[in-house]
Amino acid sequence: MYPVINPATEQECAQVTLAGVTEADVAIERAHDAFARWREVAPGERATLLRGFASVIDGHIDELAELEVRGAGHTWSNARWEAGNVRDVLNYYSATPERLFGRQIPVPGGIDITFREPLGVVGVIVPWNFPMPIFGWGVAPALAAGNTVVVKPAELTPLTALRIGELALEAGLPDGVLTVIPGRGDVVGQRFVTHPLVRKVSFTGSTRVGKQVMAGCAHQLKRCTLELGGKSANIIFADADLHKAAATAPYAVFDNAGQDCCARSRILVEHSAYDEFLTLFERAVAGVRVADPASDTDSEMGPLISAVQRDRVQGYLDGVDVAFTGSAPQGDGFWVPPTVVLPVSTADRVWQEEVFGPVVSVLPFDDEDEAVAMANDSAYGLSGSIFTGDVGRALRVARGVESGNLSVNSHAAVRYWTPFGGYKQSGLGRELGPDAPDALTEEKNVFIATTKE
Ligand code: NDP
Repeated sequence: MYPVINPATEQECAQVTLAGVTEADVAIERAHDAFARWREVAPGERATLLRGFASVIDGHIDELAELEVRGAGHTWSNARWEAGNVRDVLNYYSATPERLFGRQIPVPGGIDITFREPLGVVGVIVPWNFPMPIFGWGVAPALAAGNTVVVKPAELTPLTALRIGELALEAGLPDGVLTVIPGRGDVVGQRFVTHPLVRKVSFTGSTRVGKQVMAGCAHQLKRCTLELGGKSANIIFADADLHKAAATAPYAVFDNAGQDCCARSRILVEHSAYDEFLTLFERAVAGVRVADPASDTDSEMGPLISAVQRDRVQGYLDGVDVAFTGSAPQGDGFWVPPTVVLPVSTADRVWQEEVFGPVVSVLPFDDEDEAVAMANDSAYGLSGSIFTGDVGRALRVARGVESGNLSVNSHAAVRYWTPFGGYKQSGLGRELGPDAPDALTEEKNVFIATTKE
């Protein structure tokens, strides 16, 4: 049994039985058996089942949100959004089965057509930072494309995944089509990589483990999609609406206590606006409401997920110049206040590495070229924001920054209508958006001769 701990109070809130390799193998084989039937379900019927699943989720938004508030320390507004995101992503991809088009390609001597065939069993490995959305992004397009799915939630946060697995059955998804297998990463997650019946792994988590997953998949030439770390830049030019830039910057990095692969954890400010920005930013950071989300429904930032993560984050603050901090509750819980640091240079560890906590670094830049160079001086390239009043500059900088998802005068990064994924060591492949099902299918080409003998 594995105890799930409420990170805001350090109290146990549930016990979960972890699966081993034997249980994982049984679930994978059942998913493989179910695949033979699921791929034959008529497109319209599969669409109806996915819409029904979305509708059952919709009826359980508050219940799912409460599980995430207590089991992962998420704020109520985030947790409700996250449960709603699972519903929305299921609804979005419910349109897929009836639109999984192939092509007819002009060729001599006959007709050439392509088909999008499902892969088989898809394994989705989910991290602890956004247990519900990342579950939905992996599962919904995979099911829609005709695959069956096995999901391994993070040990720290299995509760919502397990409940959504039950809701899938309640919604009428056939047995074995979607199976949630709680277990250790190096046991169940690793089995997804090594089991030959798992034909693709969708992994979200650390770059370190992502590389292991990719290396393991290579042995079977197994497909994989990797959504990994980030160190995203929030670039603020002097001609921007500085009040808006400063007011929104805390939420772009401290949301989910900074445990967000898209966190804008490096703020780059044009020299001439640097002092004014810092003054406005300090006020905005002081205004972030940090409290136990279970007892304060207006809390804007909760605790870190675990003592390990808190200690890891605090390790980044040793010997660093802290400019100012926000507040955090005292006593039990894995708390770190919103913290703003001023690195000495871009070589500093806190500027280069993914902290995955409520810590943001600020540095000035002189001109547009330097801003782009500083943003790109990173192993990562997942997300980022550009604040400027000049539309031409906004587009030049957006084209120049090596990152998969950028926003101008906004921090909106992840939208289920649009592709999401990273450059460089932030990942491989894209999730979400209209093309996600393509990455969960094989393209098959069939030629039919029409020439007379
Ligand atoms: P991990 O990469 O270890 O965990 C992510 C998922 O992978 C979990 O479900 C985990 O299982 C699973 N996993 C772990 N080892 C293996 C393995 N050998 N094979 C297959 N699956 C495995 O992240 P951590 O929880 O250790 O977090 C460490 C750091 O990673 C964070 O501080 C942050 O920097 C980064 N991170 C980034 C995320 C992102 O969204 N990009 C998400 C999470 C972390 P289990 O946890 O159950 O062991």
